[in-house]
Amino acid sequence: MSTEPLRFDNRFLRELPGDEEDGPRVREVRGAAWSSVLPTPVANPTLLAYSPTLAAQLGLGQDLLDSADFPRVFGGNALYAGMQPWAANYGGHQFGHWAGQLGDGRAISLGELLAPDGARWELQLKGAGRTPYSRGADGRAVLRSSIREFLCSEAMYHLGVPTTRALSLVATGEAVVRDMFYDGHPEPEPGAVVCRVAPSFLRFGSFELPASRGDVDLLRKLVDFCIARDFPALADAGADRYSAWFAQVCERTAVLVAHWMRVGFVHGVMNTDNLSILGLTIDYGPYGWVDDYDPDWTPNTTDAQGRRYRFGTQPQVAYWNLTRLAQALSPLFDDVAPLHAGLARFQAVHAQREREDIAAKFGLAACRDDDVAMMAAWLQILQDGEMDMTLAFRGLMRFDPQAPDPAVLEDAFYSMERRSEVLPAVQAWLQQYAARLRSDALDAAARQQRMAAANPLYVLRNWLAQEAIEQAEQGDLSGVHALQEVLRHPYDRQPGREHYAGKRPEWARDKAGCSMLSCSS
Ligand code: AMP
Ligand code: MG
Repeated sequence: MSTEPLRFDNRFLRELPGDEEDGPRVREVRGAAWSSVLPTPVANPTLLAYSPTLAAQLGLGQDLLDSADFPRVFGGNALYAGMQPWAANYGGHQFGHWAGQLGDGRAISLGELLAPDGARWELQLKGAGRTPYSRGADGRAVLRSSIREFLCSEAMYHLGVPTTRALSLVATGEAVVRDMFYDGHPEPEPGAVVCRVAPSFLRFGSFELPASRGDVDLLRKLVDFCIARDFPALADAGADRYSAWFAQVCERTAVLVAHWMRVGFVHGVMNTDNLSILGLTIDYGPYGWVDDYDPDWTPNTTDAQGRRYRFGTQPQVAYWNLTRLAQALSPLFDDVAPLHAGLARFQAVHAQREREDIAAKFGLAACRDDDVAMMAAWLQILQDGEMDMTLAFRGLMRFDPQAPDPAVLEDAFYSMERRSEVLPAVQAWLQQYAARLRSDALDAAARQQRMAAANPLYVLRNWLAQEAIEQAEQGDLSGVHALQEVLRHPYDRQPGREHYAGKRPEWARDKAGCSMLSCSS
């Protein structure tokens, strides 16, 4: 190959026990954290998009990105020297129930790349074919869900939300058959492979699986490995390092969900196999962005009945997931007090972040106790008035406390009827907000700056993703590329790109892919 050799150092394979058998035969894998398995080659790997910002961080030069090998490697047809593909073993609680062994059924890690700055990044293909963990499924991914994962991973990064990244989107040139709504209508769809990138893909479920089998030896190895590789600052914490590590996991998870609530993101499938031990947003499936504010909304049709993973309950679900992790880790602790202390850290950090976000989103110097009630009242108005969450907060940025005028919220309404209903409440609330702003230390410029940094203008609204997907399915990638660009600066007003800041159009209200998504991907 014409390019500088990339440096790989596959610690996960070197330091953790692996499966004795290679290849994709479906099986139960005990006593091992991974299985060697190669990506299944595809008919015609074609590069559709890549992230230039991530490529630069990884030290991938333009010659490598432009080479004919790049789509072959990131479509699963070739390997760079040093890559040693594997699928990871893990379990998980799905929708509240222990599901046993799950593992990477359609994800295959290629290796741990050492970037020029010394950072370690695991490169992982999603949709690369069968693994020992595929059970009855095909190990593939469709273009629509791959576009959604590719765009949203990078959008989240630019929003400042912890996340796995996405390097590339490669079309396979093969069809994948999916029954999108599990209603007996399977259809062939174009297939794709995304290369996801993260310092670690370990999940809560990675620890739950050995614990569920009473394999304390493997559990301990995993925790020691995770601390050594992913939390090096804790490696010297001595006998207390397990406690310190669990507390950090709790803190990071608290910070993560607080971000989701700040930007209006609904993960959609917060099973414990989909919660990253690093507190990253991981596994973009039937996620969604809140349009009209509704804490009970979930984009996931598979969860429409119980709505376990609706927007408003994400902090509670994260906490519940941490209790599952604590349970799994308990064999490593003589005393459960540090586990309880970790869970208490979650509550404290989450409450603290919530207050910081209230201050930032309202443009206040600091959050007072009565501001918490003011936020609750505001959110109730958004819900009653069926108002767009993103546009309502951006509207508040233009609000002048010397001349309170509800016109700044005009573009946030979806229905004129609802608007009339809530207008008196809006006016009363704005008076209260105006008084609060007049008593605050920040001047108008500082306030607006603070608000602009906490309230994104451009988010990957479901209908925007859907527009780009439908174009891409016709062979036109310009919509994907345009969204990539816009979402690189989500907090900055971008003249000429008003379309991307628009509220959900009427055609998208009840359309598949916009308001309804399933796990079928
Ligand atoms: P998810 O809902 O994507 O988090 O997946 C839950 C489990 O199902 C994981 O073990 C996945 O690897 C597996 N899985 C999901 N889709 C597929 C697929 N198309 N082929 C094989 N395994 C899959
Ligand atoms: Mg998953």
